[in-house]
Amino acid sequence: MDKLQSLRGMVDLLPEQMPLWQHVEALARSQFRRAGLREIRTPLLEVTELFARGIGEATDVVGKEMYTFQDRGERSCTLRPEGTASVVRAALQHGLLSQGPQRLWYTGPMFRYERPQAGRQRQFHQVGIECLGFADPRSDAEAIAIAWDLLSELGVSGLALELNSLGDPTDRAAYRTALVAWLEERRELLDAESRERISTNPLRILDSKNAETQAVLAEAPLLIDSLSDASRERFEAVRRCLEALEIPYQLNPRLVRGLDYYTHTAFEITSSQLGAQGTVCGGGRYDGLIEQLGGAPTAAIGWAIGLERLVLLCAKRDAAEGALPTVPDVYVVSRGEAAERQALVLSRQLRQAGQMVELDLTGSAFGKQLKRADRCGAPWAVVIGEGEAEQGVVLLKNLRRSADSPEEERLRPVELLRRLLGPPA
Ligand code: ATP
Ligand code: MG
Repeated sequence: MDKLQSLRGMVDLLPEQMPLWQHVEALARSQFRRAGLREIRTPLLEVTELFARGIGEATDVVGKEMYTFQDRGERSCTLRPEGTASVVRAALQHGLLSQGPQRLWYTGPMFRYERPQAGRQRQFHQVGIECLGFADPRSDAEAIAIAWDLLSELGVSGLALELNSLGDPTDRAAYRTALVAWLEERRELLDAESRERISTNPLRILDSKNAETQAVLAEAPLLIDSLSDASRERFEAVRRCLEALEIPYQLNPRLVRGLDYYTHTAFEITSSQLGAQGTVCGGGRYDGLIEQLGGAPTAAIGWAIGLERLVLLCAKRDAAEGALPTVPDVYVVSRGEAAERQALVLSRQLRQAGQMVELDLTGSAFGKQLKRADRCGAPWAVVIGEGEAEQGVVLLKNLRRSADSPEEERLRPVELLRRLLGPPA
């Protein structure tokens, strides 16, 4: 029979990788707690319309990357390709916004049907924040600072923040008209996909990965030049806040983000360590989205970090530091029926008391079991043979013996617990 394999682009995370993931996730949690963000978890599966309306039909994500299918009730369902639309839907569905502005964070798998390559998968993970009901330019800077500080605390080097303003819908409409006219005159010089986008999503052409198209675009009009005075002032206020926070940034007038609901601030954080898939965090303001999904007009800003890329960045340094320990406190060795049963019971008691316990279940010779005890790095071995089982005692072996501590002691189970849990003798 053929071996069963995971689907292309769907990646297993193996036990040896998990300490690093847990370290990254724990740091993110801690960062969010300090920033007053609360966690929200939403379903992986949503009605397709949520993303069609919340992301936009003309985007890559909705146009060609979604996992969409009919469920048994013939509803069109989609595996979430990103977190924002779901978080906004949940906030509206449960009336969170009537309780005031919400600072939320989420993490979990996202699904996009893309061509898999390093740092690009079909199931990948994001951690992200959504600050709903915040319009002040300081909230843009605060959100960016949370991402920046998380990446810095994780020790990611070569960070660069790229910043742009997309203005408000009026600014964008004016720009769109100017850009479309400009592009129409150069239609023949663009790649096929970009030509198609002139009518569907012309701003996204600026983001094209085609080198020839990019060369043509070098002379294109810039959105930043179409901003109204109010939008320009708002952008300057955000920039002053970033300067006060001493977060360096580069203006990138071509940064448009793939999603239609963004307004004003758009940003990406890249790391020079990542190569082609250089963007680790993308985000911005989406003042239009909540209304588009049926809520009252509400200002909002958020971002998402790709966890695979983040873990890759951390793996390049000495990363396991701070990871949860995996070496047991006690290794339990036993042989003979009654002894083996007692060892099972004792292991459970030790675990209930908070100890990390590895119970040897092989039934092999004592010498072999003890060799494994030594190899696993545990400081203590508990040994129960037939004699110990009969007398109701255990043998505690010190595997990290210093000259003045005894090598082994015969103890009753209560004494053992006191010995292992109590203050060192
Ligand atoms: P890209 O231009 O790399 O496709 P994007 O604009 O589609 O990125 P966003 O939708 O802003 O990305 O998602 C935010 C972050 O999620 C990205 O910066 C990246 O780190 C991560 N990400 C997006 N798509 C994938 C994927 N297919 N595999 C792994 N990580 C991803
Ligand atoms: Mg993408």
